[in-house]
Order: sequence, then structure tokens, then C-alpha cells
Amino acid sequence: MRAEIISVGTELLLGQILDTNASYLAQQLAELGIDVHFKQTVGDNDARVRGAVRLALSRADVLLITGGLGPTEDDLTVASVAGELGRPLERHDDIAERLRQFFALRGRVPPESVFKQALIPAGAHPIPNMRGTAPGVHLEHDGRELFLMPGVPFEMYGMMEGYVAPRLRERTGSAVIHSRVIRVTGEGESAVESRIKDLIGGSSPTIAPYAKLGEVHLRVTAKGAPDDVARQLDTGERALRERLADLIYGIDDDTLEGVVGRLLADRRATLAVAESCTGGLIAKRLTDVPGSSTYFLEGIVAYSNDAKRDLLNVPPAVIEEHGAVSAEVAESMARGVRQRAGSTWGLAVTGVAGPAGGTATKPVGLVFLGLATADHVQHRRLNLGEEAGRAGIRFLAAQAGLNLLRLRLLRSDA
Ligand code: ATP
Repeated sequence: MRAEIISVGTELLLGQILDTNASYLAQQLAELGIDVHFKQTVGDNDARVRGAVRLALSRADVLLITGGLGPTEDDLTVASVAGELGRPLERHDDIAERLRQFFALRGRVPPESVFKQALIPAGAHPIPNMRGTAPGVHLEHDGRELFLMPGVPFEMYGMMEGYVAPRLRERTGSAVIHSRVIRVTGEGESAVESRIKDLIGGSSPTIAPYAKLGEVHLRVTAKGAPDDVARQLDTGERALRERLADLIYGIDDDTLEGVVGRLLADRRATLAVAESCTGGLIAKRLTDVPGSSTYFLEGIVAYSNDAKRDLLNVPPAVIEEHGAVSAEVAESMARGVRQRAGSTWGLAVTGVAGPAGGTATKPVGLVFLGLATADHVQHRRLNLGEEAGRAGIRFLAAQAGLNLLRLRLLRSDA
């Protein structure tokens, strides 16, 4: 079964509101195991709403239409759908009565325009609206089913959950469409893709890559009965793990900082962080995680050379000889913060976030990470480029720092 979602509203086309109704409906349809091949957004215009309905009827079995059901002049969805299907509008006295009661309960006299909502296409069933005045409309036409729901999200959720979904469930049985997101960091999208090229696409499970800032998400999607879907998702995840191994840091809602935190906690290890160009972002991300106080001891933002010397014991001669953005300073900062906090690990970052301050030898986007334990220190040089902009460079530097620590924690077990 194929469904199509049509969102009606000029304010959606003007970009004034986000089409959260469509994403809600898409999620509900996935939960019902119903494929969505197209969504349409259309303004409050009779000819265009009719065109959208015509197009959707040509390629979908179920149409979910949201918005434009109210009493005002520009609410024309019901009339346009009726017109397109060649069905006259009929007045439902029971709806009119309910509208009257709705207003009476609130001690108000309904304006005449409200009764426009009592008109629905011939042969259609009204869908009760427990949360507002505009009833929804359910109708069958040439073997297709159409559901018209109000645009107000809270009202639409009520109708979807109370009426539409149970009806669709009767037709789809137990089927669901579920996805699992496999989260990868440490390599770019093309590098990741080249390792899994032959797994991409396919059917049940399908695997599709999505590039994000500093990571790649691989979405594994399967359709079928719930048990079978869970098995297919496991199979897809296993195939990806075989190819990508520890480039995968987590699944679904995992965050890199949360995963690093878990690894530290499992090993009863502690961490202190010294940051220059990231200005505290690594510490912020780590401490966003509830319970981080068990492993995160302190974070120092050492921006100036003096701060690096005074707070982290970085020798001025090292800064003078190599510059503040250098492997030597990153390592020295990592050692300094680890010693200062008495932590198992010291992580440091120094770099040029831009947009100014780059030179030929130290361009914007050049970042050094330092990672220290009691008896070892290492560094990593990153060329992040300037395209990501200041905020992007800072995020990517933080991401790489957290990932460096994650990989060290994993590989030190091996
Ligand atoms: P009602 O008669 O209950 O007001 P309606 O069907 O006339 O409903 P609209 O006038 O289209 O609804 O929209 C009402 C409000 O609902 C909009 O101003 C907007 O805030 C919200 N809304 C409408 N469509 C969407 C959508 N697709 N996604 C999110 N919000 C929406």
C-alpha cells in the first residue's frame, strides 16, 4: 500500500512555518508499514489543491491531506477535494448541531461561517474532532481512501491516532517500517561509501548514507512483521560493522560524547580537557551527558599564551619555537591538564578557527589534538579547511578530539 501526504497552506510555502504535520504523518505511516513515495505541499488555492489531489490519486492508494479545513475564506480543502472528485457538498445536520454545542458550552454564539464546516462531500464520513471544531473527512473513491484532517497539529494528532491509524492498521495487518541509524565518524562520506558501496540500496533492509557535520549516518530500513524487521535490522547492522568496525561509534540516539563517557566509566578512568580554539565545546559536550561527573574532572579554556603557561604549564619556549598552534603545544597542554587534574587522560586542542588569523604555514582549519596518559602522549594534526566556517571548525575539532579518545580507549583494550 502506498500513501501520499498533502499539506495545504500558503504559510508553509512562504517558509513561515515548518511542515511538522507531514513529518509526523510520515512517521505514523512508517509505523503502519505503509510506503510513502511522495509528499506535496500546496498553497490555499482551489486549482492547485485540485491538481495536487489529482496527481496523488494517480500514484497512491491512500491520501492524507492536512490543513485548510477551518471556517475561513481561505480554508478550501474540503470544497476543492469534493470538486475534484465530482461530489457535491452536503450539509450534515449532526455536525452543525455539534458545532452549535461547542459554542454554547463556551457561552458563545457561533458566527455563520462556522457552519461551512458542516458541509462535506457526498458519500464521505465525518471524522470526529475531539480537540477543535473542524471535523475531518474520510472518503473512499475508486478504490482509494482519502483522509482530510485539520492543520492544527494537536487536532490532527488526535484524528490520526483516534481514527485514521486504526483504520489503516486493519488493512496493513502487523506490518511496520522501522529504521536504525548507524553512526560513523572519523572518515568522510565518500570514504565511508566506498567501503560499503555494494550494500547501499538493496531491499529489506535498505541501506542509505547521509552526510552530517563531522559524521555519516547510515540508515538501515526494513519492512515487514515486527520480529522479522528486527532481524533484518540486525543483519544490516552486522554487515556494516564487518566493513566499518570501530568507525561506527553508536546507533540511533547515541552521541559521541555519551559513548566516550560510557567507555571512560566502564574503565573507571577519568578525563580532563584543555581547550583553545574550541573554547570549552568539548567540555560542554561531555558535561551535557547526565552522570558525567563520574569521569569528567575538569575543563580549562586556555586561550592566550599566558593562560597556556599559567594554567597548563606549557613552557613559553615551546610556544615561541613552534607557535601556539602546534603539535608540541597540543601535547604539552594535554600533559599539563592531566597532571593538574590528576586524571587518567588529558585531552587538548589548539587550532585556527578563523575566519582571520590564518597564515601560509598555519591556515584556517589547522588543528592539533593532544592526548596524554601518565606515561604516554600523542598528537594528531587535522586540516579541516576553512569551508566549514568558524562554528563548523570548532565542532569538527571537538568531534575529532572526542573520537581520538574513543579510539584510544577501544584500542588500548585490544
Ligand atoms: P482549524 O480549522 O482547526 O483551525 P485548519 O485545517 O483550518 O484547522 P489551517 O488554517 O490550515 O488549519 O492551519 C491552522 C494552523 O495549524 C496554522 O496556522 C499552523 O500554525 C498549523 N499548521 C497548519 N498546517 C501545518 C503543518 N503542515 N505543519 C505544522 N503546522 C501546521
